[in-house]
Amino acid sequence: ALGLTGALAYSIYELRHPEEQYEPDPTKKTLVILGTGWGSVSLLKKLDTENYNVVVISPRNYFLFTPLLPSCTTGLIEHRSIMEPIRNVLRQKKATVKFFEAEATKIDHEKRVVYISDDSEIKGDISHTQVPFDMLVIGVGAENATFGIEGVRQHSCFLKEVTDAQNIRKRIMDCVETAMFKDQTPDEVKRLLHMVVVGGGPTGVEFAGELQDFFNDDLKKWIPEIQDNFHVTLVEALPNVLPMFSKQLIDYTESTFKEEEITIRTKTMVKKVTDKYIEAEVTNPDGSKSLETIPYGLLVWATGNAVRPVVRDLMSQLPAQKDSRRGLAVNEYLVVNGTENIWAVGDCAITNYAPTAQVAGQEGAFLARLLNTMAKTDAIEKELQTLSSEQSKAKTDEERNRVFDEIRERQRQLRRTKQIGPFQYSHQGSLAYIGKERAVADISWLSGNIASGGTLTYLFWRSAYLSMCFSSRNRVLVAMDWIKARLFGRDVSR
Ligand code: NAD
Repeated sequence: ALGLTGALAYSIYELRHPEEQYEPDPTKKTLVILGTGWGSVSLLKKLDTENYNVVVISPRNYFLFTPLLPSCTTGLIEHRSIMEPIRNVLRQKKATVKFFEAEATKIDHEKRVVYISDDSEIKGDISHTQVPFDMLVIGVGAENATFGIEGVRQHSCFLKEVTDAQNIRKRIMDCVETAMFKDQTPDEVKRLLHMVVVGGGPTGVEFAGELQDFFNDDLKKWIPEIQDNFHVTLVEALPNVLPMFSKQLIDYTESTFKEEEITIRTKTMVKKVTDKYIEAEVTNPDGSKSLETIPYGLLVWATGNAVRPVVRDLMSQLPAQKDSRRGLAVNEYLVVNGTENIWAVGDCAITNYAPTAQVAGQEGAFLARLLNTMAKTDAIEKELQTLSSEQSKAKTDEERNRVFDEIRERQRQLRRTKQIGPFQYSHQGSLAYIGKERAVADISWLSGNIASGGTLTYLFWRSAYLSMCFSSRNRVLVAMDWIKARLFGRDVSR
């Protein structure tokens, strides 16, 4: 036990006191990485930063473990538990990596510069500037899709960033406390306690499940008066929720929601949002369509991804991107079509796979391998040049043979490093929490579906998410949040 404690203490010491870092080197190429999400951070983790002058640019100076973000909306998990400071990641690297907290507003691919802007509250004398690059990796993700539907941006909450989760958490409690206001009318109480989620993808489903858990575990115990009126509704335009899962898992989710008393409204497409109600087009069983008004207190909008303006702008500069709509078209090495020195990873790149954290993470790791190999290849090629000039100058046969052997060895190395194949995604499975301590999982290596509830699945999804957490620090914090909520309940302050 003493040995184990010693080893742990030493590893924490080592993490906090990384080796000295080299300064940027003018003879090296500048590699600019945009974003601090799943794609960019998994690239950074595996990148040998001593090969390039690496610059990271992102408006967020932390990595966010998004799979647990729905739990932050109810206070089950505190948001800081799933954030990892990017500075923490960068100081583990051998060579210095520069970080600028800024938004990339424009990429000029011909001039090879990124325009950046400081969008934080405090601004210095300089808040707009340019960063030149030799190589660029775009990992800026996507923004929330609203399909231009009136009122969505003004009145609904999204669920992508930490601030979104904080807004939702505040808004839930604001609705509850306002509903409890003295002399509130019954209709208004009903409206305020109606929590509407639009979008039946995994984001919407997981949030609806977490919210209903919050009500069952805590809210109705602290504030029993809301019992009869608190209601969660999930609205989906298609005939069923979670279309990416199998029929069996969809049925299981739908029947669990029924038990939990979450209403699912499928074939209901939201067309307009006001501050108090949504207007939706409902397809009736006979195929006819009708318009319906649904009052709400909280509206969470989870209808998937849209292309960010900076990405759309780059696409408009490249004729090769003319036919691409959903994001940057890339080749099998993740090179942005129409460029040679720009790569894209994660939700801003269009591949054959769904825009998930798992795909982005694997793309980032692949790119790290590719960039490490490219640097190694360059180094070997330089050595080969030196060796061949040495060979021509060699005086004796012995010398010539030695150089010849070395050249052969370098050529072998070169062939080996150049063997890196195209990016291939290996699907480890999909997992979604559906509330009531139940999860649905489609685990490909088991070649089957797991749709179950009860302690086992609950422990399985929790341990899976825990093991995927970014750092041991995050793992400890998340586990403590879970224990805290079990013991004392969630915090219902606004
Ligand atoms: P999504 O694109 O998966 O689902 C959005 C849903 O909104 C769709 O089913 C669509 O039909 C519906 N919709 C769109 N417009 C609508 C309207 N006007 N009215 C009613 N419904 C409407 O979005 P998501 O859930 O945010 O997921 C985005 C990506 O992230 C997906 O690839 C998903 O697989 C991934 N993700 C995975 C997990 C997980 O594995 N646990 C969790 C979250 C997200």
